[in-house]
Amino acid sequence: MIKRKSLEEYKRGVLDGNRVVLSQAITLVESNLESDSELAGKLVQELLPHSGKSIRIGITGVPGVGKSTFIEAFGSLLLEKGKKVAVLAVDPSSQKTKGSILGDKTRMEKLALDKRAFIRPSPSGSTLGGVSAKTREAMLICEAAGFDVILVETVGVGQSEVAVKGMVDFFLLLMLAGAGDELQGIKKGIMEMADTLLIHKADGDNLPAAKRAKSTYSNALHLFPLGENSWAPKVLVGSSQTGDGLSEVWEAIQVFQDQMIRSGWFEKNRADQRLTWLHESVHAILGKLFYTHPEVKIMLQKGEIEVQKGIKSPMTFARELTKLFFS
Ligand code: GDP
Repeated sequence: MIKRKSLEEYKRGVLDGNRVVLSQAITLVESNLESDSELAGKLVQELLPHSGKSIRIGITGVPGVGKSTFIEAFGSLLLEKGKKVAVLAVDPSSQKTKGSILGDKTRMEKLALDKRAFIRPSPSGSTLGGVSAKTREAMLICEAAGFDVILVETVGVGQSEVAVKGMVDFFLLLMLAGAGDELQGIKKGIMEMADTLLIHKADGDNLPAAKRAKSTYSNALHLFPLGENSWAPKVLVGSSQTGDGLSEVWEAIQVFQDQMIRSGWFEKNRADQRLTWLHESVHAILGKLFYTHPEVKIMLQKGEIEVQKGIKSPMTFARELTKLFFS
């Protein structure tokens, strides 16, 4: 069995901002070992009163848009402003994660070396649900360790963004100025989730196209109805190479936060997110128990082929399986 610290040691280490213990505490909550889950649960519970004081920012965009470079530059800017920055990555595909860990190490070099920053790549081999559940806990632990800005990076464009949107306060979408077809390559649903769009790599020869893209996107966003929080999403241009426009991103986030705190939406959104987390956790726990149930496993193996062939009704078979599970 892996040697673990005591609850008190984890707690004290995290609250002291000890980055080694912080890392170990996140490893503990990410662990799939049954023997770790009780200790992990207690630790998160103990740290809960010390969490919640950060601003949680989701960052997404297609691969190559410059997310890692942006996080390095934007994170460094926040450090200069006296913030402590934690970066968590969410990537449902373990294969891709391996690549991005190596990539991120070089692209986030400055941030990775700074004591006021903490970078945590996504756990490999996790499912989407697993990643989002663990990312929430990792976020709370980072907050308890004193990080006041949490950047959650998602690599895919699709399902993982929906998961991340459900755990952050502010959602930033990075985009590139395309050659005429600005709206291609990004799903409308993702754009609708964004609180701010950043037309990235707006430097050198890209600058005129980026400015054109800004007006195209601004016009497109006007067509979307405002969300529940009445926030009109902003479109900004910026470059992580020159640093231009990055302060504006931070300003937009602060305006958003002030406005949302005043309207009460900020806390309401977090309360809703906690409820979602509860229900997702119930699903995850039940799912795990169900699929590891020995008799269910045997019955599933036998029946799946018939379902695939269309001989057995999936719904009827699901009922038979759940009946067996609860018997
Ligand atoms: P990710 O896949 O979204 O994380 O993108 P990366 O951060 O790995 O960046 C992809 C490529 O874009 C790299 O070659 C970067 O050097 C380049 N890049 C990132 N940011 C900028 C920028 O602001 N301007 C320019 N011109 N290139 C950039």
